[in-house]
Amino acid sequence: MEFCPNCGSMLMPDNGKIKCRCGYTKSLTENDLEEQYKFEGEKNKDLEVIVTDNNNVALPTTRITCYKCGGTKGYWWTVQTRSADEAPTNFIRCAKCGNTWRSSN
Ligand SMILES: [Zn+2]
Ligand SMILES: [Zn+2]
Repeated sequence: MEFCPNCGSMLMPDNGKIKCRCGYTKSLTENDLEEQYKFEGEKNKDLEVIVTDNNNVALPTTRITCYKCGGTKGYWWTVQTRSADEAPTNFIRCAKCGNTWRSSN
C-alpha cells in the first residue's frame, strides 16, 4: 500500500502505474512487475502439478461432493497408518479442483 506524497491519498494501481486522484502518477518499477509475474507463474505451476498427478496415477474414481467446488468426480486411495491396529484411512481427491480430504468412512 502506498500513499501520495502530494496529498496523502491512497494510491490506486492502474495499468502498470499507480495514480492519485490529485493527478500524481508513478510508474511501477520493473522489479515490482517481475515479482507479480513470478508469483502468478508459480501459482499456475502448482495447479499443473496437481492435474498431472491425477493423469499419471491410475486411481479408482468415486462419486463425491467436493465442499470446495461442488465437483462430483473424485479419486480415492488408502493409506495404512503406522499402527497396524488402526484401520487404514481413505483419502479422496476432487478431480475438478484437486482438493484432498480424509474420507469419513
Ligand atoms: Zn495525491
Ligand atoms: Zn473440488
